[in-house]
Amino acid sequence: MMDKAEIRAIVEKVLSRRGLFAPPQDQTLPQGRMPLQSQIPTQGQMPPEPRQPPEPGKLSLEVSARHVHLTREAVKRLFGGDEALRARRALSQPGEFLSEQRVRLKGPDGVLDNVAILGPERGAVQVELSLTDARMLGIDAPLRLSGDLSDAAEVEIEGPSGSIRAKAAIVAKIHLHLRPVDAETLGLKNGSSVCVRVKSRRPLTFEDVPVRVRDDFMPALHIDFDEANACMYRKGDSFEILSSAAAGKPAGAGKPARNEAAPRRTGRKTALVTEADAKKLVRTGGKIQLPGGTIVTPAAKDVFYEAHCRIEWEQ
Ligand SMILES: [Zn+2]
Repeated sequence: MMDKAEIRAIVEKVLSRRGLFAPPQDQTLPQGRMPLQSQIPTQGQMPPEPRQPPEPGKLSLEVSARHVHLTREAVKRLFGGDEALRARRALSQPGEFLSEQRVRLKGPDGVLDNVAILGPERGAVQVELSLTDARMLGIDAPLRLSGDLSDAAEVEIEGPSGSIRAKAAIVAKIHLHLRPVDAETLGLKNGSSVCVRVKSRRPLTFEDVPVRVRDDFMPALHIDFDEANACMYRKGDSFEILSSAAAGKPAGAGKPARNEAAPRRTGRKTALVTEADAKKLVRTGGKIQLPGGTIVTPAAKDVFYEAHCRIEWEQ
């Protein structure tokens, strides 16, 4: 007779062999719990060998599995003595690696075993989870860009030699890594934000995607398992940047969307944007440019508001 832990271990092994991002709901587990998903960071995250620098503006999509970042102190505590993180594989961002060691995460409602540690050691402990993971643990992890631990949820991290509790758990926010040359090609700036449409089996547009620019980045869009599953992402699916909310103009990648609906002219000078027009306009995301004096109906304003689209008035 196998116990639950053994069954889980088998499920996990099978899933990781199939390269799935997350397992189907297992009815034999208690309500609200899901069996563990593969802990091996997914295909997209690991280059098989040192990559040629991609041409400017050519971006890849990488799906990040749940993982932790640890401080020197935390490594000592969890693994004992002088143990340091041992690199098993390089990750796409230069200098980062998947460590040989693993940890267990514990929350009030559940446990996640075999969780990856990404090196090198950092100045703060950080636990990056999908929202599904956070629900399994029973913690209320906020959506944050990596590095921002404000209101991070408390979680217990357990290693072979000890455990720590840290307010370190976040749901990592989608983001775009660019080199300066990509940013220039795409007409984007560090700190700006864009809409990104993943052209997958279940196409999905992500709004408010922050852009990070650094010399040593590999240009890539980073999403988590929940986001990958939401759009049924498969390796090889492409994506396009629809617009730049900050710059107010389409980015250069792929086929930038155009405003499909122009404000309707109601007279010689005044144009009208109805709710139906607004729904067409917001598909382009980001900032909407309208001629000065255009009348925007209250229902249309609601549509813009809900889509987080800003209106810029042309002079
Ligand atoms: Zn990233």
